Amino acid sequence: MSVVLQARRLCAFYGRAQALFDVDLEVAAGEIVALVGRNGAGKTTLMRALAGRVATTGEVLLDGVPVSGWRTDRRVQAGLAWVPEDRRIFTQLTARQNLEVAEAPPRAGAPVWTAERVYELFPELAPLERRPGGALSGGEQQMLAIGRALMTQPKVILLDEPSEGVAPIVVQRLAEAMRALRAEGLAVLLSEQNEALVAPVADRCLCMDDGVLAPAAAAFPVS
Ligand code: ATP
Repeated sequence: MSVVLQARRLCAFYGRAQALFDVDLEVAAGEIVALVGRNGAGKTTLMRALAGRVATTGEVLLDGVPVSGWRTDRRVQAGLAWVPEDRRIFTQLTARQNLEVAEAPPRAGAPVWTAERVYELFPELAPLERRPGGALSGGEQQMLAIGRALMTQPKVILLDEPSEGVAPIVVQRLAEAMRALRAEGLAVLLSEQNEALVAPVADRCLCMDDGVLAPAAAAFPVS
């Protein structure tokens, strides 16, 4: 499968403090790569660096095109979707409106994501479509956040700790959904500490420690 997302010698900085050190990374179409590591290791920073939300040096490439200087919205338009840890659901909008605000035109050669297709992936969202986003449970909000990211018609999706604060049954549902997305050829980078989600889906595990990325000898335990 072809490489969709690539980082080369990627460094990230919060002011003068360096939080990411020369990260090299590749995620291919139809591949789920898991990023594991203890709290504060730099997983979220790597996601933010790939999404264009933190100062960086080095390169990020999407389908071979350098996007390092691009703002987040342009990266999204180019096919890089990011689901941050806090989900950022629009609490006053209905679940359906949360999906529709993100809707982007179809991408040539890729199956198009519509609200109905999101409901096929997450059937539990369909009966909730008129409910305000703020009235959904943590697990429902996580599914909605993933659905909203899919509405941007991504080639690669960055999922930051999707199991955080959700029930074990929802973790299983997220694992099923990820397998379905992989089968469609989506590239998935998953930052996650929950073995119940990583173990059944990850094709490869990488371990982040003190801002440095290495292949994980054993994905768990992470601390
Ligand atoms: P967690 O699982 O707890 O979210 P993480 O692996 O995602 O941890 P990061 O949140 O990326 O780790 O943090 C990596 C390092 O960067 C830590 O030392 C953290 O204190 C620092 N850091 C994170 N966000 C900021 C910020 N906004 N300003 C300054 N330093 C930050």
